[in-house]
Amino acid sequence: MGKGFFQVPTAYNEPIKSYAPGSPEREEVLKQYSAYFNGHTDVAMYIGGKDVKTGNTKPISPPHDHKHIVGQYHTAKKEDVTHAIANALEAREHWANLEWEQRAAIFLKAAELISGPYRAKINAATMIAQSKNIHQAEIDAACELIDFLRFNVEYMSQIYEEQPDSAEGIWNRVEYRPLEGFIYAITPFNFTAIAGNLPASAAMMGNVVLWKPSDSQVFSAKVIVDIFKEAGLPDGVINVVYGDPVMITKEALSSPDFAGIHYTGSTHVFKELWKQIGNNIHIYKTYPRIVGETGGKDFIIAHPTANPKQVATAIVRGAFEFQGQKCSAASRVYLPKSISKEILDFVKSDVESFNKPGSPEDMSNFITAVIHEGSFDKLAKYIDQARKNKNAEIYAGGNYDKSKGYFVEPTVIVTTDPKYTTMETELFGPVVTIYVYEDKDWSKTLKLVDSTSEYALTGAVLSGDRYAIAEATKALQNCAGNFYINDKPTGAVVGQQPFGGARASGTNDKAGSAQNLLRWVSPRLIKETFVTPVDYRYPFLG
Ligand code: NAD
Repeated sequence: MGKGFFQVPTAYNEPIKSYAPGSPEREEVLKQYSAYFNGHTDVAMYIGGKDVKTGNTKPISPPHDHKHIVGQYHTAKKEDVTHAIANALEAREHWANLEWEQRAAIFLKAAELISGPYRAKINAATMIAQSKNIHQAEIDAACELIDFLRFNVEYMSQIYEEQPDSAEGIWNRVEYRPLEGFIYAITPFNFTAIAGNLPASAAMMGNVVLWKPSDSQVFSAKVIVDIFKEAGLPDGVINVVYGDPVMITKEALSSPDFAGIHYTGSTHVFKELWKQIGNNIHIYKTYPRIVGETGGKDFIIAHPTANPKQVATAIVRGAFEFQGQKCSAASRVYLPKSISKEILDFVKSDVESFNKPGSPEDMSNFITAVIHEGSFDKLAKYIDQARKNKNAEIYAGGNYDKSKGYFVEPTVIVTTDPKYTTMETELFGPVVTIYVYEDKDWSKTLKLVDSTSEYALTGAVLSGDRYAIAEATKALQNCAGNFYINDKPTGAVVGQQPFGGARASGTNDKAGSAQNLLRWVSPRLIKETFVTPVDYRYPFLG
């Protein structure tokens, strides 16, 4: 910045539209849904500002109608990946040296494009690709991605403002350099906002990025690419490749210019990535930044003083919205015996009030499909096991059918074994397991919550007793990076609840915060002395 200390527009959370019957946004998104659903989209990779089509294509089908094809995407060969990396590195010099306000303007423009002309497109694409109902698509693909872009611009300017003191006769300044090399962003299927944010946050700080979206999110990733293009992101700053994650990752991580990874996805993949980076450490020019947000086994614990209806609503929303495929979804619940029956009855009646799982195009559907056959089969296996196990009972739901879409009914398992497999393992679907504890064992149960899972992402306590809340807050301080009191454990909002977990859930670099952006810069301290000494002797030498 040469000619002014610019103030960025104050960030604010994008208001969520209602999509109520008769609203213009409902009509617009359904029209766009129909156009995408009945069309055929050919999704090219995007390298150096060009569409790259390899002819090695894979079909794209909505999870709720898996025999129907809405398009195809082109997958990378090894040489496409090396070309994408080389091209990004070529773009680096101009991009890293561009004034920050120019970079900010691109991402602020992207936010406004999503808020306006691309809103129906990004929502409809997310409904089709990830089978989100319109509310889930709106809070993710439109609002959260807009929030990431707006708030990160504000955080970026706060970071740049952070400067050291200067003693008399000198001037200390810090410049926040982008990392030397390229950032590799690997994104999950479940949030279009995360898919956009992982490459964008690193790019915003002046880095160039190789982005590999999930195979199950390519259809909505394409809309993000279109938005970045229209916002004026220069060629090569974010290059996008699709296809074999192992091959692409091997190429990226064996480049000496690999400078950092921005990952969100499952824990076992992240551990593998960390190992590969460790094994290659001698070839890199710099120590790569490793940022990964991964799995969860998120809990709700209710105290005997909790309001049963509130607990039931936290369970139903926390466990079943987006078919339980939020990393923060409640999947293990601890209920005190005295109010457990009442809570379970409320949960059951809520679950029975849902339509059968179906297409998001039918806006009366709260529950749609799970993402793919692998996920469906895994969930069916755990439901079947629970049906047969003497320590478990299917309390509600438990049916599944993949003939048209990957539909799994929201399922409540009640177990008498607090270490039952579905209390410990991340299933990533609409299955919640409930353990009922004796009221007198409240404090013991807090220890159980803390020690049951390897993860530490989100958790919630519901209680009407302040002493109990204080006790739970302390006892559970290490088993959730986002902890909720008298609320469900999902629904973090950018700018309000920065998100991330510890233990096996990730590096906790809090997406949607300045902390995360700091991982993508390497500060350079510049000390300037105004009157430079000319004699080495200090006064003490006499
Ligand atoms: P996933 O691990 O299957 O895939 C994530 C990404 O990793 C995809 O792009 C995939 O292609 C890639 N990948 C898969 N195998 C790979 C390999 N061997 N090498 C390199 N890359 C590989 O996860 P998913 O099903 O897309 O997403 C669900 C998971 O993400 C859940 O575990 C969920 O908890 C987690 N998640 C965490 C957060 C968080 O903030 N903590 C947010 C969203 C999702």
